[in-house]
Amino acid sequence: SATLSVVADEVKRTFGTSEASSLVEELRQSFRSGRTKSYEWRISQLKSILRMVEEKEKDIYEALYKDLAKPEIDAFLSEIAMTKSSCKLAIEQLSTWMKPEEVKASFATYPSSAKIVPEPLGVVLVISTWNFPFLLSIDPVIGAISAGNAVVLKPSEIAPATSSLLLNLIEQYLDRSAVRVVEGAVPETTALLEQQWDKIFYTGSAMVGRIVMTAAAKHLTPVVLELGGKCPAIVDSNTNLEVTVRRIIAGKWQCNNAQACIGVDYLITTKDFAPKLIEALKARVEEFFGKDPMESKDMSRIVSLHHFNRLVRILDEDKVSKKIVHGGRRDQNRLKIAPTIVLDPPRDSSIMQEEIFGPLLPVVTVESINDSFAEINSRPKPLAAYLFTNDEKLKSDFIENVSSGGMLINDTVLHVSIDTLPFGGVGESGMGSYHGKYSFEAFSHKKSVLIRSFSGDATVRYPPYTPRKTKL
Ligand code: NAD
Repeated sequence: SATLSVVADEVKRTFGTSEASSLVEELRQSFRSGRTKSYEWRISQLKSILRMVEEKEKDIYEALYKDLAKPEIDAFLSEIAMTKSSCKLAIEQLSTWMKPEEVKASFATYPSSAKIVPEPLGVVLVISTWNFPFLLSIDPVIGAISAGNAVVLKPSEIAPATSSLLLNLIEQYLDRSAVRVVEGAVPETTALLEQQWDKIFYTGSAMVGRIVMTAAAKHLTPVVLELGGKCPAIVDSNTNLEVTVRRIIAGKWQCNNAQACIGVDYLITTKDFAPKLIEALKARVEEFFGKDPMESKDMSRIVSLHHFNRLVRILDEDKVSKKIVHGGRRDQNRLKIAPTIVLDPPRDSSIMQEEIFGPLLPVVTVESINDSFAEINSRPKPLAAYLFTNDEKLKSDFIENVSSGGMLINDTVLHVSIDTLPFGGVGESGMGSYHGKYSFEAFSHKKSVLIRSFSGDATVRYPPYTPRKTKL
C-alpha cells in the first residue's frame, strides 16, 4: 500500500479537473472527426485487444497474482478466456450488429421505409472495480469500441498492479487519440465525473453507484450501473447433493474467494435438511482445499486489509461468532480467512444485512422450501439467484416469484459466460446490461429513421379542414 499511495500521490498531482476536461475535449475531437465510427477502426482496435491479451497473458497473470493471489487457472478462466471470447465474438459479429434493422412502416405513411440505425453515443467513461480487475475493465471497453465510441477507462486503485498494467498495455496497443486510461482513486474519479460524458458505465458498489448517477444527472448522461448484492442459493432436499455441494463451492470459495458480484452470498435450506447439507459442504471443502485451507494455493486472498477487517468485523459480531459451524480462522498478515460456515445467524446481524463479498457462508433455514422466496424478497433485489432442485414445480415457481438480475438453476455463476444472455442487475443490483450484442447496444443509440417518398401525398392531411376532409 506504500507503493499505492506513492502512485496515487503522483496521479493526484498530475490529474485534476482541468486535465479531465482537456482529456474529454481531446477525445471529443477525435470522435467528431468520425474516425471511431468506421467499421475498419473498430475492427482494428478489437483485433489489437485480442493480440494484447494473447501476447501479454503472462503479465496479466502476474498482475492478478500481485493484486489478489489469484490462482492462474482461475485467472485464465474468469479473466483471460472471458475477455478473449468477448473480443472474438465482437470481431465476428460486428458487421451484423452495425447493420440497420429494417422494420415495418405503417399504412398511414405509405409509401415509406423504416429502419433502426445504431449509432455511437460519443465519448464514454468506464469506471471499473477490483475483483476481476482485467475482465471488468476491458469487457465494457470492447462494447464501447464495437459501438464506435471514444472511451476513457478508470480501473480500480484497489487492484494497483492490474491498473498500471492496463495503462501501459492500452497505451501500447490501442489508438491513443480515442482510447485512454486514467489511473487513480476518489479524487481522479471525481474529476472525471464532473465532465460531460455521453454514457457512464460503472461497476462497483451501490453506494458509489449513487454518486455516479448523481453526477451523471447533472449532464443528463445515461448510465449503466453494474452493482452487487446478496446473491442467495436455495438448496432443496430433493437435489443431487454431491453435485450441488461442488457447484456451491465453485460459486463461493473457488470464485475469487467469493469476492465476486455473482458469488454465492448465503444459502437457504430447510431446517431438516441443513445438517446434511453442512456435513457435505465441510467434507468437500476439506477435499478441495486440504485439512488446512489457510495453506491452499487454490484460493485467492482477501484483496486488502480494509476488506479483511470488514469481514472479521461481521464474523466477530457476538451473535454471529457463536453460530460458526465450520472454519473461522484468519491470518491478517497473509490476508486470509478460512472457508467459514455460519448456521442461522440472526436476520438483523451484519452478515445478513450487508453484501459479504468474502469466504463467509451463512446458511439460513426455513420451515418449508417454499418460504425461501419470501426470505429473498425481503431483501433488496440481488444480481443473481440460484436454486438447486429436481422439482420442476419449484423451478418454475422460483422463476416466477423471485426478482433478480439473472438466475441459474442447478449451478452457480456460469450464466455470466452465456453471451446470448444480457448481464445486469435490477433495483439495488443495478440498471442496464451488457455482454455479447447487449454490450454493443449498451453503448449505441437506436436511431429511428423513416424515409418517405414524395408520391402518395394525401392532401386530406393539410388545412383547410373542410367538412369533406373532417368526415373522412
Ligand atoms: P467501489 O464502488 O468501492 O469501487 C469501484 C470504483 O469506484 C473504483 O474505480 C473506485 O475508484 C471508484 N470509487 C470508489 N469510491 C468513489 C467515490 N467516492 N467517488 C467516485 N468514485 C469512487 O466498489 P468495490 O468495492 O471496488 O466493488 C465491490 C462492489 O462491486 C460489490 O458491491 C460488488 O457486488 C460490485 N460488483 C459488481 C459487478 C457487476 O458486474 N455487477 C462486478 C464486480 C463487482
